[in-house]
Amino acid sequence: MTADTDATGENSGELMVDVRGVHKNFGTLEVLRGVDLQVRTGEVTVVLGPSGSGKSTLLRSINHLEKLNRGYVSIDGELIGYRRSGSKLHELKEREVLKQRLHIGFVFQNFNLFPHLTVVENIIEAPVSALRRPRRAAVDQAARLLERVGLADKADAYPRQLSGGQQQRVAIARALALEPKVLLFDEPTSALDPELVGEVLDVIKDLARSGTTMIVVTHEIGFAREVADTVVFMDDGLVVEQGPPAEVLDRPRHERTKAFLSKVL
Ligand code: ADP
Ligand code: MG
Repeated sequence: MTADTDATGENSGELMVDVRGVHKNFGTLEVLRGVDLQVRTGEVTVVLGPSGSGKSTLLRSINHLEKLNRGYVSIDGELIGYRRSGSKLHELKEREVLKQRLHIGFVFQNFNLFPHLTVVENIIEAPVSALRRPRRAAVDQAARLLERVGLADKADAYPRQLSGGQQQRVAIARALALEPKVLLFDEPTSALDPELVGEVLDVIKDLARSGTTMIVVTHEIGFAREVADTVVFMDDGLVVEQGPPAEVLDRPRHERTKAFLSKVL
């Protein structure tokens, strides 16, 4: 990790992710109804909320997997998915969006590894093909990342030969290989057997300690309490409440937050 504003948290404290007034409709269904979210460099934001509240759509909007109906997202000062001309936003070409997305790591619930590639091939694929990094350097970096996620001995395994927890740790290593400015996690442990949740959360905790800028959608309240700088509670397409974990989790101000926490705690 060498870029000066990558996920390791140099330039700490500056605004990294800026979500302003984001609206997203699917047909007549309003899924995001004016979401604002700011994440500073090196901070961990945990997003909580009931199923269907718009958490995944928010993450997908941040890296422009969804077009927005209103509002904008910028990362490290750069508008994502659009360029501004006067007061209008024009959507960027897919090629330009793909380029932006290289700086935004995304870890999915279902790992999404390439099944026909080995672990090391999964990790070096984007650095070699999209960033044109020399294969040798990419393999060396992959080895370091596998060490970091505790899978140094699995470089040549195929995803099907790994447990869910191991696959998710590979997916994290793969995201880190692009040295993203921010890492987005969408329920990274929801598809795992309970005994495998801890090993994945431990890796994410380690990233948090090293200053990686992250937005983590999860139902793991203990993790939120321990790791989050900010907890955001979403309901019905809006941020209902946000603040430090000790406030939002222990002294929620809104009824909907209280009701949600009473079900998951
Ligand atoms: P969460 O991640 O909080 O469970 P989602 O963002 O996945 O919520 O979904 C919010 C709402 O948007 C749900 O009602 C869901 O059915 C709807 N939705 C999500 N994606 C689509 C889509 N591509 N087309 C239509 N409706 C969608
Ligand atoms: Mg979701």
